[in-house]
Amino acid sequence: MRKRSHIVKNVISIIILIIAIVITSKIYRKYNYNDFVKSVSEIGKTNFTRDSEEKYSKMDSYKIENIDYTDAIFSQKISVIPNRPYKVTCKVKVQDVENLDNTKSGGAHISINGTTERSRTLTGTSDWQDLTFYFNSKNRTEVNIGFRLGGYSEKSKGTAWFSDFQVEVGIENTSNKWKMVCFIFPNIDVNVEVNGKQEHVNLQMTSDDIMSIRNNLSRYSTSISQICNNKMTIEYETYIISTPIRTLSYDEENGYYVSADDVYEYINSYVEKNSYDHIYVAFRMADKQKGNDILVNDWIGLGGMDYLGIGFSNIRMPDDENNYAYQYNNLFNTFPEEVFLHEFLHTLERNSKEYGYEVPALHDYKKYGYSENNIDGLKKWYADYMNCNISYAKNKIGLPSEIYTYKPANNASFTFSTKLDVFKEPKNIIEVIGNLGSRVRKMLFSHTSQDNS
Ligand SMILES: [Zn+2]
Repeated sequence: MRKRSHIVKNVISIIILIIAIVITSKIYRKYNYNDFVKSVSEIGKTNFTRDSEEKYSKMDSYKIENIDYTDAIFSQKISVIPNRPYKVTCKVKVQDVENLDNTKSGGAHISINGTTERSRTLTGTSDWQDLTFYFNSKNRTEVNIGFRLGGYSEKSKGTAWFSDFQVEVGIENTSNKWKMVCFIFPNIDVNVEVNGKQEHVNLQMTSDDIMSIRNNLSRYSTSISQICNNKMTIEYETYIISTPIRTLSYDEENGYYVSADDVYEYINSYVEKNSYDHIYVAFRMADKQKGNDILVNDWIGLGGMDYLGIGFSNIRMPDDENNYAYQYNNLFNTFPEEVFLHEFLHTLERNSKEYGYEVPALHDYKKYGYSENNIDGLKKWYADYMNCNISYAKNKIGLPSEIYTYKPANNASFTFSTKLDVFKEPKNIIEVIGNLGSRVRKMLFSHTSQDNS
């Protein structure tokens, strides 16, 4: 009798053990994020789980559920070679994703944690689709790639599922030829807030306006290589987009302007197909001279912005027939293409800093003894800036000559790409156990590797 009860006891403990293993492995499978680190901007608003039902391929998807507006990300550091184009892809599905204040820049996307570098963002509800994120490693040797629901300064609610991650390194394009594009938007039709009141603004460009944009682009493509002594050349395309711009972005310093998000839906098919290195958007907007100072803070161009990693500039036609900024005249303006050059130089200024160079600020011409000329503006300053020929403390300073070959990552860099062995999923139980063991060791021996986004 004693022997039998011993056997029964053993059988019961084995059953309990099996149940415990099954439950543990289920819990493990549901919450295992492999080597990804989860982080949130506020605690208690996000559930991170693995989903075995809603999935794209065999592997359980990674699900982020934001029950309220917040920013949530899971990310992993990967090693990169400096100055190389990289491409991160995944599959993504979204359900009821909404951004706080209806911003266009938040949602489900891929990003580099801690930076504003990101892919396009998804909102609303849609089935599995491809998501691609291009970036240039610049002077970095490590980046923290994140799959996110929210944004760098945005908050989103809803659910996003991510799956099938892949990273590729492309071939660096060292040519000094820049492929540029100018999207001309002859119509804007927007609602803006002025002194707390909604105003409707509807403006058109005239055919003369469009002609002067085209003339200046043509002048610019010649003068830029002259000014920089052929350190770079450009080729460019223009497109007239007749659909009106329907939203504007706003910041305190500049007033209203056109951001990448305001025109994404109209231009992205061109950008994806043609692999541009720089993007201009030209449009007409109100000017102070008409007593209509409601929209902008007295600028005709804005630069240093980016469109998913590609330099992005605004070219504004003032709403004023007496403004000669874009008109060639041999008595008072022989450099009407100046605004195109000036705004592109803001991108080279920004790139130089992001590659780790110290360069003078583009607006600091007075500090180095230059002044604006009535006839050709700051042409002399731009020439010395681009040729690293500004005298300062017995040295010559300006843009580094390599900067002309450092171009944004885009589709063209990936014809002959190499897939990286990162974000690997364990394939079988032995790998799962090995993976679990290595994670436990990591937890025991590293204090924290948690990153704040
Ligand atoms: Zn400027």
